[in-house]
Amino acid sequence: MTFFVPSHSGLVAAVTITVIAMTTSASRPAESEGAITVDGTVTDRLVEANQRYAAAFADPGMDARPVLRVAVVACMDARLDLHDALGLELGDCHTIRNAGGVVTDDVIRSLTISQRALGTRSVVLIHHTGCGLESITEEFRHELEMEVGQRPAWAVEAFRDVDQDVRQSMQRVRTSPFMLHTEDVRGFVFDVTTGLLREIDPA
Ligand SMILES: [Zn+2]
Repeated sequence: MTFFVPSHSGLVAAVTITVIAMTTSASRPAESEGAITVDGTVTDRLVEANQRYAAAFADPGMDARPVLRVAVVACMDARLDLHDALGLELGDCHTIRNAGGVVTDDVIRSLTISQRALGTRSVVLIHHTGCGLESITEEFRHELEMEVGQRPAWAVEAFRDVDQDVRQSMQRVRTSPFMLHTEDVRGFVFDVTTGLLREIDPA
């Protein structure tokens, strides 16, 4: 598949990766794949949607501390609607998302602020079936270097076994010296075909 990544010169470079496609857009009509729609860019569409949202919006009068005192770390996958899947309402939780739902240093940064400045106590980690990180490897970094002349500083954090990766993520949170609360750290795999969470035993 082809990834579009910012190149050194600021142009967009296409990086062709000869592995299994990460996520499928096969069910989508072809015209929805690009950034341009008939009525302008996709961002224009989002801005218009925001104007409708704001028109119906009432100030909930909340402060920044999550009502349920929970932070959810999840993959950025488009098929995972965290609020619907977990019955969450506005203001309930912090959501921290990245490719894979990996507990990187930056996720630890967000969790540390979440707990120490904004009062959360529980951490929920969510990976999912069919994750793109199962179908790429650390070779991705090498291929990027070959393409743009610079090796990224970050690890791809690709994984083969989603259960094991959830266990590792739980371990990274529990062993971080910066966390205030590690008694309630639980990990799950979300099934994108059934919508069900499966809890992973930390042992
Ligand atoms: Zn994923």
